[in-house]
Amino acid sequence: MAREGLNAALMAGRQALQTSALDAVELAVRALEDCPVFNAGRGAVYSHEGEQHMDAAIMSGKDQNAGAIAGVQRVQNPISLARQVLNHSPHVLLIGKGAEQFAREHHCVFAEDHYFHSDYRWQQLLAIRDQQMTALDHGIGLGTVGAVALDAEGNLAAATSTGGMTNKRYGRVGDSPLIGCGTYANTLCAISATGHGEFFIRSAFAYDIAARIRYAHQPLQQACAAALATVAELGGAGGVIAIDAKGNVAMPFNTGRMYRGAITCDGSSVVEIY
Ligand code: ASP
Repeated sequence: MAREGLNAALMAGRQALQTSALDAVELAVRALEDCPVFNAGRGAVYSHEGEQHMDAAIMSGKDQNAGAIAGVQRVQNPISLARQVLNHSPHVLLIGKGAEQFAREHHCVFAEDHYFHSDYRWQQLLAIRDQQMTALDHGIGLGTVGAVALDAEGNLAAATSTGGMTNKRYGRVGDSPLIGCGTYANTLCAISATGHGEFFIRSAFAYDIAARIRYAHQPLQQACAAALATVAELGGAGGVIAIDAKGNVAMPFNTGRMYRGAITCDGSSVVEIY
């Protein structure tokens, strides 16, 4: 199912690329949020309280405009709420009840709890609920979702959406909705990360890649590998999908698996797991 979800996301993104990179990343991430196997939207993991609190961010490279939301419940497509924040709010990041009110005012679709429920996610919570620990899905590669794109006008965009970590509590927010940490785009590159968010926040991961490209003139692949090495030095693990203004793509990871794919405008695509 993950493979089908990825293919659906690539097709949705490619079609929307005709309008803009920003539309492409939003629609690709929407397709992944709708696929119940990934930890985002419909497949979001459970918090300690047995609820699903979702985070998402989207960023446009040409003007560095960005929208993000954190800790929202029952919004069917958190990435589209982040897009509404980008389009219609003077702010970058909205959280919790306020973000949900903004979603209602901007006609975002809400879904009932059963839409988001799966026994698989519930069992993941029960397995660790009474322990002082959180868990990621990276062993099986079905974690956070993201997309990056470059359109025909040379504009770059990035989007990331997640349910965060199983058994998270106290309003924990990871790197995904934080601009420069899990998500970033400028005129040189677009970045979307997945992994143990705390380490990606502490290393300003996505901006680290952008800075290596801008100031150290590192090629994309090298910049991504170096930023991931910093995360590993701090004790974290994860992966990244990235694209630069020339259309180079990098998708390194230091976890067991990361479902990932790429498509070009002529339609040639690749989907990989290991
Ligand atoms: N980075 C996300 C977080 O820490 C989780 C993930 O990528 O799976 O919230």
